[in-house]
Amino acid sequence: MRAVRLEGVGSIALREVGKPSAGPDDLLVRIEACGVCGTDRHLFHGEFPCTPPVTLGHEFSGIVEAIGTAVSGFSVGDRVTGDPNIACGRCPHCHAGRINLCYNLIAIGIRRDGGFAEYVVLPQKQAFLLPKDLKPTHGAFCEPLGCCLHGMDLARIKPGSSVAVLGGGVIGLLTVQLARLAGATTIILSTRQASRRALAEELGATATVDPSACDIIDTVGGPSGLLPGGVDVVFECAGVRETVEQSMRLAKAGGTVVIVGVMPQGMKAEFEPFDLLFRELKVLGSFLNPFTHRRAADLIASGAIEIDKLISRQVTLEEAAAVIANPPAPGEVKVLVVPR
Ligand code: NAP
Ligand code: ZN
Repeated sequence: MRAVRLEGVGSIALREVGKPSAGPDDLLVRIEACGVCGTDRHLFHGEFPCTPPVTLGHEFSGIVEAIGTAVSGFSVGDRVTGDPNIACGRCPHCHAGRINLCYNLIAIGIRRDGGFAEYVVLPQKQAFLLPKDLKPTHGAFCEPLGCCLHGMDLARIKPGSSVAVLGGGVIGLLTVQLARLAGATTIILSTRQASRRALAEELGATATVDPSACDIIDTVGGPSGLLPGGVDVVFECAGVRETVEQSMRLAKAGGTVVIVGVMPQGMKAEFEPFDLLFRELKVLGSFLNPFTHRRAADLIASGAIEIDKLISRQVTLEEAAAVIANPPAPGEVKVLVVPR
């Protein structure tokens, strides 16, 4: 079969490899779609630990082609999505229910072969059923949506709350939709690209801000801003220093900041501890998708999340390596690899 192999830092190529087979507890899944994520680009550039050679791709879904002898609850022909993050189940964090912090976490598409291929081997405990009539491309969004759901869970949004989302990539645009479903009545998205601001407004943002054209702190929380005093919950979904620093200044007193964006390791951001204390801000890190994959799949199956508008283009396995090796094109939200 064909698979997109990361062979070392800066080295990625489509290769012909042996078709894998399912072990006793595995499903062999024929990939229908697999999303390209910023993490794939970080892996290519050596900015995130992994163990090449490995087939990349951790946002995948497809059709069960074969099942292992110990598998139950799945049949050949089922459509499934895979939670790529395999926790060990035995370490202190797993025993405490914090599987995203597992000491022995192994991710499909990072530490073992993933979904930029014709087939992937998926342990049954990582597999979740999707409806047979779901669009084949939609299942690939369960993983990013699951990560956004964890951020939502941490934020504890109350109906009627105000929310700001910083960064209008796929994570920010999914978070806007979840905030709307959670009952937020004011949802402000900040991102520089006009096309993304327009899309966010279609998806439920009540206002959008171009942070390169204004002082966002003033525009949002200033005396004559959109919400004088700031917002209840800020989701930092850009992963840059500027937005991390803005997030704590945009939250109102007693408010919550959820850091979803990944800043490069070692990079620092400034905040004022006095402000954190005096205004009782809660600043929370949100990492991965603990126990959210089922809900993500159900949300996508229900049609409650707009997916089609997030798909910028679909590419073949032949085109995938170049997509990963290059920065995203302007305006692009999500590129899906669809093996043919
Ligand atoms: P993305 O497509 O790169 O989106 C982030 C967007 O933020 C950028 O495209 C950019 O859009 C915007 N941005 C950059 N600087 C900005 C600024 N100063 N002010 C406002 N917006 C700014 O990435 P993504 O896939 O949506 O992911 C977002 C972040 O979440 C990444 O850091 C990713 O690594 C992280 N992530 C975290 C988890 C987790 O478990 N916590 C899971 C998945 C992804 P404009 O050009 O329009 O400004
Ligand atoms: Zn563990």
